[in-house]
Amino acid sequence: MQSASYRVGRAFLCRADYRSELMKSTLDLVREKKIKMALFAVIGSVAEATLAYYDQSKRKYRKIRLEEPLEIADSWGNISWKDGQPFAHLHAVLSDAGGKTYAGHLVQATVFAAEIHLLELIGKKLEREHDEVTGLSLWKFKKQGLK
Ligand code: ZN
Repeated sequence: MQSASYRVGRAFLCRADYRSELMKSTLDLVREKKIKMALFAVIGSVAEATLAYYDQSKRKYRKIRLEEPLEIADSWGNISWKDGQPFAHLHAVLSDAGGKTYAGHLVQATVFAAEIHLLELIGKKLEREHDEVTGLSLWKFKKQGLK
């Protein structure tokens, strides 16, 4: 187990703009408020979305296209760094008109109405790097002197 500890900084409640792209809106907020690290969650609804499922044997993401209005029933994510840029990682549970749910790694979504709850973390920037074992971009603690 590798870990880092942080203090909680500012807390933000945000409303993403109608028809904006959810992940871009989140990263725009991060840059505008000069947030280095954060935890965030989103609730609301989207006009369409793309989720992804990571195929562990093929070491590839498989996209799940959802071309219909959906509720963001639940989500949870974090902001860290990748290739020198802020990177948003969000997993979401989306539900359709009948309450059927789709879940996974959120790639993109067009906002109908969405509330972003973001908690800034104060501490060292954590970078993602390619992990040989999983094929994923994972947090690297030791290289950055974090423990
Ligand atoms: Zn993910």
